Amino acid sequence: MERGKVEPADVSNPSLYDAYEVKELTNDSFTYYSYTSGDRFTVKKVPPDSKFDGVAVPQGSPGQVFPVFIGVWVVLGLFSAGFFFLGKNAKLKRKVWPPFVVATAVLFVGFTWATDLPADALFIVVPVVALITILNLRAVQFCNSCGATVMSQNFFSKPAFCSKCGAGLKQ
Ligand SMILES: [Zn+2]
Repeated sequence: MERGKVEPADVSNPSLYDAYEVKELTNDSFTYYSYTSGDRFTVKKVPPDSKFDGVAVPQGSPGQVFPVFIGVWVVLGLFSAGFFFLGKNAKLKRKVWPPFVVATAVLFVGFTWATDLPADALFIVVPVVALITILNLRAVQFCNSCGATVMSQNFFSKPAFCSKCGAGLKQ
C-alpha cells in the first residue's frame, strides 16, 4: 500500500517479508495469509482460564504447592501423633524426637520457600521456626516409667514430672 493506492508488492524484497493479507477478523479469531511463505495462519483468542496441554506449570506456583503442603502436613501430623502419643517406648521416642522436629522445621521452611512468598519472608520464618524447634526439643520429654510423651505446661521450661504417672523426669 502506497499513497492510498494498492499496488502489487515484490515479495522477494526483504523489507516486504511481512506482507500479509487479512482473511478473517472476528472478536476471537484472526486469519491471515502470508505472501512470503504461502501459509495461512489463524490466531485465536484463548479464554483466560484455559490450559495449554504439555506446557509445564512453573514450579513454585502457590496453587500447586499449597495442596501438597497441606497433604504432607496432615499425614505427618497423624503419624507423629500416633507414634509419640500412643507409643510407649520412651527410649525410641527420645531418639526419634530431635531428628523429627528438625526435619519438620526444614520441611516447613522448604514449603515456605516453594510458595510465592517474597524472599524477605524467610528472614522471619527461619528464626521463628528455629525458635519453635528449640522450644519443642526442650518442652517435650519422655517418661521412663510409663513411656508417655510429656509436654511442658508453659512451653518454655522442661517438665519436671510426668503428667500421666507423676514420676520425676530426669535426663
Ligand atoms: Zn510417666
